[in-house]
Amino acid sequence: MKAIIVTPGSKNSVQLTQIDPPRPKPNEVLLRIKKLGIDGTDRDINAGFYGAPPDGGKFLVCGHEALGIIESVGAKVKGFAPGDLVVPTVRRSCVENCLNCRNGQSDMCLTGHYFEHGIYKLHGFASEFAVTDADYLVRIPRELADVAVLLEPTSIVEKALNQIYRIQNRMIWEPKTALMLGAGPIGQLGTLILRLRGLQVFTVARRPLDDPKAQLIFRSGAKYVDTKESSLDSLGQSFDIIIEGTGNAIVAADAMQHLATNGAFCLLGVYDPEQLSIQAGDLFREMVLRNKLLFGSVNANKSYFELGLKDFQLIKERFGNILTGLFSSILKPEDYEKGFEPDPSEIKTVIDFS
Ligand code: BGC
Ligand code: ZN
Repeated sequence: MKAIIVTPGSKNSVQLTQIDPPRPKPNEVLLRIKKLGIDGTDRDINAGFYGAPPDGGKFLVCGHEALGIIESVGAKVKGFAPGDLVVPTVRRSCVENCLNCRNGQSDMCLTGHYFEHGIYKLHGFASEFAVTDADYLVRIPRELADVAVLLEPTSIVEKALNQIYRIQNRMIWEPKTALMLGAGPIGQLGTLILRLRGLQVFTVARRPLDDPKAQLIFRSGAKYVDTKESSLDSLGQSFDIIIEGTGNAIVAADAMQHLATNGAFCLLGVYDPEQLSIQAGDLFREMVLRNKLLFGSVNANKSYFELGLKDFQLIKERFGNILTGLFSSILKPEDYEKGFEPDPSEIKTVIDFS
């Protein structure tokens, strides 16, 4: 079968090749992959910065954002049958099967010895067929099939926001304004979900107002700011919620100053440790004197994928087909290279395996 593979640790190793199709274990399903989304993590792995092959192997099948159709199920699988449309989650329980992993929260793994499809020691979904544990599948209703490949990045945003509201239960809190940093997939999905929650949203990026990214933001009723033209300062505003989706540590630190009293700030990027060093005294003082919250969030468990599906439905009702506007290019597997090149106008690149 066709598979897009990388050699983690080496630069620009991505290639389309032929490998043997996998066989499902008793707890696994065999998926026929329909669509695969590419993101910054996939590019970081191809740049040699991140990722690991399965133990004993040299290559890794890429991809962790997928929509598939069940081809066959292992002997112990219950509740799924061939023909079911599904999205798999990314992370699997750690070697030790820690407290969180064994309770459906591998996204909160304690040991760090987890597995991630297409990222860390487990093959991904950039192939005609793939196998995965049936306990980590999310069933997709037919009417959401067109956008379901966006569910994995959506789950990241759902987790961020869900945690914000839960942590902020520590006080009486009625957030009104939100700042979304970035207008890529996380920025777009974050903007929509914040709008669904009734917030006044400002989304910022470094693209002009006539750029498709900015146009999508306008369609959701959020305000868009091109930070090449106007600074965050010029907005003269502070925000109850800030979600960082650019992956740029300098952008993140700068935005911290615009967090309102009692506000919550969630970091979602995998930041370059070399990019920024800060004088923490000032930041800490502000956090204390204004009860500010700063936290990080990675990965998402099945419950957040399920929240994402509910929001897809609401987004369709309220904003029509806006989500399909995120697909900036849909490629054949043979054109995979285009998906790994940096392209500032890109929102979500999808590889169509069907
Ligand atoms: C994925 C997460 C994963 C993280 C770190 C992200 O791109 O969406 O599921 O945990 O990379 O490996
Ligand atoms: Zn664990």
